[in-house]
Amino acid sequence: MAYAYDDQNIFAKILRGEIPNDTVMETEHTLAFNDIAPQAPVHVLVIPKGAYVTFDHFCAEASEAEIVDFHRTVARICAETGICPGDGGDGFRVISNAGVDGVQEVPHYHLHILAGRPLGRMLA
Ligand code: 5GP
Repeated sequence: MAYAYDDQNIFAKILRGEIPNDTVMETEHTLAFNDIAPQAPVHVLVIPKGAYVTFDHFCAEASEAEIVDFHRTVARICAETGICPGDGGDGFRVISNAGVDGVQEVPHYHLHILAGRPLGRMLA
């Protein structure tokens, strides 16, 4: 696996505090903030603080503490936003785009949490 991390990407600048963000939740290893161009009433981006480019990069090279912290943070945001079907919410989608075919715009690993409207079938 050969990923070169570009530390000038927009999320790296957010992590360094060089540009502002609308923070939803922050933990030791993870930052979550609202997307600047929301595609749904809930559109939160969750990023690890470490320098990872894609889902596979993160899962291969991050520590277990980072991986657990990241996913627990995603789950806490879903729970606190009231979108979990198990708690009576209407549901959500989490997606991660990677590379050219995935149409990844920002080369710092992130998950999108989308909710608040019917999202339709999206397999392509
Ligand atoms: P990708 O295509 O890489 O999965 O998605 C990148 C996301 O980052 C897009 O939904 C885009 O709206 C969002 N985004 C790009 N620049 C900024 C920014 O400066 N601030 C925030 N909050 N979101 C951004």
